[in-house]
Amino acid sequence: MATGRLSIDLSAIVANWQALSALARVDSAPVVKADAYGLGIAPVARALANAGARTFFVAYAEEGQALRRALGPGPQINVLSGHMDGDARAIGEASLTPMLNSVDQLMRHLESLPGQPFGIQLDTGMNRLGMEWSEWAAVAEIALAQAPVLLMSHLACADEADHPMNAYQLDLFRQMTDGLNVPRSLAATGGILLGPDYHFDLVRPGVGLFGGLPFEHARPVVRLDLPVIQFRDLQPGEVAGYGNTWQATRPSRLATVSAGYADGILRSASHKLTLWHGDTPIPAVGRVSMDLIIADVTDLAEDPQALTLLGPQQTVDQLAQAAGTIGYEVLTSLGPRYARSHVE
Ligand SMILES: *Cc1c(COP(=O)(O)O)cnc(C)c1O
Repeated sequence: MATGRLSIDLSAIVANWQALSALARVDSAPVVKADAYGLGIAPVARALANAGARTFFVAYAEEGQALRRALGPGPQINVLSGHMDGDARAIGEASLTPMLNSVDQLMRHLESLPGQPFGIQLDTGMNRLGMEWSEWAAVAEIALAQAPVLLMSHLACADEADHPMNAYQLDLFRQMTDGLNVPRSLAATGGILLGPDYHFDLVRPGVGLFGGLPFEHARPVVRLDLPVIQFRDLQPGEVAGYGNTWQATRPSRLATVSAGYADGILRSASHKLTLWHGDTPIPAVGRVSMDLIIADVTDLAEDPQALTLLGPQQTVDQLAQAAGTIGYEVLTSLGPRYARSHVE
């Protein structure tokens, strides 16, 4: 097998969902947008549904259709982009529940799919999606008469516990929804960790299920092993990789491994990347190229057959730091060339 082996631990995803649910003690609806953060929406959602998840979130109606095919009837599938122009058929056929983001979406939904359940997304300051207070005030009576299943909003700075934006958005969300007697949701993974004030009736964990954002009892989910294709022995002064950006300062043994930026190992991680052989860190050298990474295995007693890029020794967040990005982007960039397996 020449390509990397990407193993996705479904029991760890379920365990992370249970740990986050235990922290929140309210309904907990997995967010499986973008193919479950790149890890495979069908196997991931089936494992979570078997463990008891009854509500899921996706970004788009098309993702909701794929999820409905994977799960069958029963689970509630909420669509964060709401009811966009052209979505009525998908929403109707797959029994999706759009989170309506504007007066236009509300009117479109009530006209094209009367009686079909919906929620409302409110904008509490992130200025991305949802109805602003004035819009909401204008249509609240019409919307509430149709019994929305959820009023939700999203936090912009939940990964920074001390950020004043969190309390500001919490306060605004309460003012917009107190006393309306509709289930409410504000927290994604970061919001769950902010504490019970943020939990309301439903939480929406995404990245925390998949090994990002650390919390107590969080388990790593992905393991990525990259086979070595070739070894090279260098004399001091010899160079490696595009642009000659690395030079041997001692007699060195290099291993060329089978993944590159086309596989989601961001080129911005060049010169900062660490691979692992068991518990031994192995520095990558030179630039990450499209299909290949070069690693310095001089200090290993034996030639390795493969090196590990993601696993217990290096989480998605740690790899993200080397690349100057966030765990979310590392996960969703994991490429299509890996041999993928889902393990229980
Ligand atoms: C992506 C998303 C989530 C999940 O966020 P995580 O930080 O991955 O837990 C929840 N709610 C909304 C509106 C989102 O866009």
